[in-house]
Amino acid sequence: MAGGTWFTEDQREGLELSFKVKETLVSKHTPYQKLDIYDTYKYGILLTLDDLVMTTEKDEFVYHELIAHVPLFSHQHPQEVLIIGGGDGGTAREIVKHPCITRIDMVEIDEQVVVMSKQYMPFLAKDLTNPKVHLYFQDGVEFVKNTISTYDVIIIDSTDPIGPGEGLLNTEFYRNCANILKAGGILVSQAESLYNNPDCVKQVFSKLRNVFPVVSAYAGTIPTYPAGLWCFAFCCNTPEPLNFFDEARFDRLQLALRYYNKGIHKACFALPEFAKRLCQGEG
Ligand code: SAM
Repeated sequence: MAGGTWFTEDQREGLELSFKVKETLVSKHTPYQKLDIYDTYKYGILLTLDDLVMTTEKDEFVYHELIAHVPLFSHQHPQEVLIIGGGDGGTAREIVKHPCITRIDMVEIDEQVVVMSKQYMPFLAKDLTNPKVHLYFQDGVEFVKNTISTYDVIIIDSTDPIGPGEGLLNTEFYRNCANILKAGGILVSQAESLYNNPDCVKQVFSKLRNVFPVVSAYAGTIPTYPAGLWCFAFCCNTPEPLNFFDEARFDRLQLALRYYNKGIHKACFALPEFAKRLCQGEG
């Protein structure tokens, strides 16, 4: 690599991704993880946790638009949403674009991710002060076990299943989520890299199938995520949400989006064969 400072993510499997760094803005250990924020030449502001890429200024819109709008336009009347994780604020930013949403509970284990995101990534965290957003700094595993609230949509916007995120890839956790999902409710989870982490993808889907009668998958390309093609799990108790797209609401809202649209809503569920087999537990 040429001179200067570089951040390199070890993507395992003998693969690395390096970013040329203009400036290291934050480098600290929180009670839960190592948190770094860099200003990079090519991808703008970059957040890493435990030296793994969480989000970059240049391509975060793909992930956040897919994890938020796919379930919200698949639900007939979404009002109450639960986010597990999501500390950078990007998922909440997309959800508040839907006027029908009355309440967003966000359960983030690490308050420092929110504090640092507000300070260095306002383009992501700007809506964390929205009155509809209620922040809980606690472990999502405990929250879903103990809460009496119920939700129309649950979004698991977590780190990789290591460290604090490990408990979020667990049948008991998914079952507790299912218990607080209202009738007609949808659970969506980030489900890792289809090329780089197939075993983890298989695990996520097999555990979700232990809990939900309907489990489907969609994907999108996020350039700075391992091997680009990132998977999401879409779960519900009846098939209706999978076949429903609220086109009237989509047309009415005229949201200024950069990735998600009517075509993507349909196309993102069309997976390549190897990915279909992985998510269906055949691969
Ligand atoms: N888009 C990113 C990705 O796919 O890698 C995730 C972004 S977001 C920053 C992930 C958040 O999940 C982090 O802020 C992390 O602190 C939080 N998190 C990890 N484990 C958690 C847990 N058990 N309960 C609640 N939040 C958790």
